Amino acid sequence: MMPFINYSHLRLRLASTLASRLAMTQLATVRVPGHSEIKVPTGLFINNEFVPSVDSKEMIDAVNPFTEEVICSVSSASEKDIDIAVAAARKAFNTTWGKNVTGWERSRLINKLADLIETHAQELGELESLNNGKPLRIARDFDIGDSVQCLRYYAGWADKIAGQTLEVDNKTKFAFTKHEPIGVCGQIIPWNYPINMWSWKVAPALAVGCTIVMKPSELTPLTALKLSELVKEAGFPPGVLNTVPSLGPVGGAALSAHPDVDKIAFTGSTITGRKIMEAAAKSNLKKVSLELGGKSPHLIFESCDMDQAAIWAAAGITYNSGQDCTAGSRVYVQDSIHDKFVELLVSKVKELVVGNGLDDKTSAGPVVSKTQYDRVWSYIESGKQEGAKVVVGGTKRTGKGFFVDPTIFTDIRPDMKIVKEEASLCMLETRILFLRDSRRYLAPSFQLAGSKLRRKPYCWRMQPATAWAPVSIPGIGRELGSYALEEYTSVKAVHWNFGEKLDWPL
Ligand code: NAD
Repeated sequence: MMPFINYSHLRLRLASTLASRLAMTQLATVRVPGHSEIKVPTGLFINNEFVPSVDSKEMIDAVNPFTEEVICSVSSASEKDIDIAVAAARKAFNTTWGKNVTGWERSRLINKLADLIETHAQELGELESLNNGKPLRIARDFDIGDSVQCLRYYAGWADKIAGQTLEVDNKTKFAFTKHEPIGVCGQIIPWNYPINMWSWKVAPALAVGCTIVMKPSELTPLTALKLSELVKEAGFPPGVLNTVPSLGPVGGAALSAHPDVDKIAFTGSTITGRKIMEAAAKSNLKKVSLELGGKSPHLIFESCDMDQAAIWAAAGITYNSGQDCTAGSRVYVQDSIHDKFVELLVSKVKELVVGNGLDDKTSAGPVVSKTQYDRVWSYIESGKQEGAKVVVGGTKRTGKGFFVDPTIFTDIRPDMKIVKEEASLCMLETRILFLRDSRRYLAPSFQLAGSKLRRKPYCWRMQPATAWAPVSIPGIGRELGSYALEEYTSVKAVHWNFGEKLDWPL
């Protein structure tokens, strides 16, 4: 007779080992030097759970640009994972979200999420600083503060989405429009403001009732995953927001071409924007909004408060280490004050502390990645080769960290590469602006607006009630303000016939 062997304890142990292994692979402990220890989810966030990829063993390394070391690795979504995330978002849209939930309830949940983000601001700020390089102080107080404000702004809109009642010329007919959530939205964001870009996209989409598949940049996936935890804690139903870190040409491309995605909201480079638009056109002609690159000018006139003008110009290019679509990377200075202004600008730039983002004294950290570092340095080299004069910066540091010290060029010409392209990043050209007549002071801005140069309205902190918009090409659609609500809704016209008779045949 066979001895009786009870395997149940073994199965349990196996199961619990598997469970803990799974848990281990979906959670990393990140130590933030001099600060806290943060548990970061590392799986894909689908249906309110962190899960590994169904078919890919690829992991994305999140790198600290100050130390050049890997912080932790997160799952990378495959095309199949994107299908699963889109199906989860579709199911939620049809059952628990979309038109199945009141505006008041959406508002309540978005406000709850804003409260949770505010409570976790320090931890989120540390993670953002660690992965992006930006100063913790700025990540926490500006980026996260602004994101909370953005969520609250759209929470206020959630129960105020309304169409119109329309007079029609027939007394037996009544017409009205409804502004309905567009459906499942793919949201693809860049690395320069990971939390800000997340909130700008997520808040209006949730407010109107859309569901989301969010693809953060492969360079900065950590805060989007941490925010997903808070989405679940706030009480959003499974599938309303899904997060799929992935490489752009894999997950981003799959989302853009997906036949069951109703809209793509994208912020990033112009070249990727073109690909997304093409994929949208070739698949289901989904709605697309594109926020792309920029190259903003400052115009400095002799009547200015020169000290303030120099501070604004310095901030315009050094903020976020220049990694900003609104970076004021061109400065046009009236001839009479040019030399004095440049001297002042250089002195302001020299006052900045460029260093470890986790240090409270730091004003600007390293740039986000080795690729970005090489790219910026290649622009600096090209500026030098083409004859521009470096008045500050322009020399590489030794040691670790993707640092590019603020660099200012003078003596530039319009045909130089650094003038024509979004060289961005810690680089500023000054150009002499000849103006004699104060009545003509506004003219250059119109002239610039008509030029081929890409541009953005230069601004400081974002205001959620205002529109954020490309003024001309490239770009489609508007972010922020009531304008963003239009990006996530479709207008349905309803004709209600309560007695109109039709003579037949026509
Ligand atoms: P990027 O275009 O390389 O990447 C942006 C996102 O697109 C990432 O998530 C990436 O994974 C994804 N992606 C890459 N290839 C893709 C593809 N083939 N299909 C779909 N998705 C793909 O841009 P970046 O370098 O991360 O961001 C920097 C750019 O973003 C700069 O040009 C900056 O000016 C711009 N930007 C614009 C705004 C704005 O509001 N207009 C704001 C921030 C940044």
